[in-house]
Amino acid sequence: MNFHILTLFPGMVMNGLNTSIIGRAVNAGLLSIEAVNIRDYAFNKHQSVDDYPYGGGAGMLMQAEPVYLSYEAVAEKIAARGAKRKPRVVYLSPQGDVFSQKMAEELAQEEDLILLCGHYEGIDERVLEEIVTDYVSIGDYVLTGGELPAMVMVDAISRLVPGVLHNDVSAEFESFQDNLLEYPQYSRPEEWHGKKVPPVLLSGHHANIEKWRREQSILRTYERRSDLFEKCELTDKEQKWLEEVLKSRESGQEEEN
Ligand code: SAM
Repeated sequence: MNFHILTLFPGMVMNGLNTSIIGRAVNAGLLSIEAVNIRDYAFNKHQSVDDYPYGGGAGMLMQAEPVYLSYEAVAEKIAARGAKRKPRVVYLSPQGDVFSQKMAEELAQEEDLILLCGHYEGIDERVLEEIVTDYVSIGDYVLTGGELPAMVMVDAISRLVPGVLHNDVSAEFESFQDNLLEYPQYSRPEEWHGKKVPPVLLSGHHANIEKWRREQSILRTYERRSDLFEKCELTDKEQKWLEEVLKSRESGQEEEN
């Protein structure tokens, strides 16, 4: 998969993405990441990329032309490689749809993805209207630029590209699959600070381990993310199991009091 990041700060993006798993995947040729400096497309005397917003107001706005030209350069390169359709262009914006694992899964199917990072007060609306296919936010807060959000997206999408995680199974059973959070995990030693690893995990009985993990996922999602829990589908047996756990906890608390 090929990521093309349009930004005023290419160094920030590339430095953040060339380490660990993502860096190794790039070296192995499973991914390519290029950061295109929008400033290289500012063909004016001062190479400026921003100006005051019409109508007044605080801050500066990124101008349409350098953004458009940087997009065109990337789109032409992708077309020259024989791509059958225009690439999707994601504008990182606090006004977009909130990024999710589901969105990452969908975007991981793309061959090329262009990520457009705004800065200052954002980007002239006219160029957004012409080139952007998707508006994506990483959460309801405002950052100074789209670079960190772009890095978040590249990281989350990349690990779903086949081969990037050595053990592809580890991406399959993670949080948000089936709207459930992942179960708790333990490694050596068997006892630490007086806390023992749940015996079922040492039993070698795969069916029991799977059952325990699923139940723990259900419980954890119920306790931590009621919004997700509402969307997950439990069997009658699982529903009953949860009710019993909650009931026994309640009676335990009453006894304590
Ligand atoms: N004035 C804009 C508004 O109120 O919608 C915010 C501009 S913000 C200071 C500058 C840039 O940071 C945006 O153009 C966008 O690319 C990026 N950005 C800020 N917060 C973001 C978020 N939560 N998700 C994605 N991108 C964000």
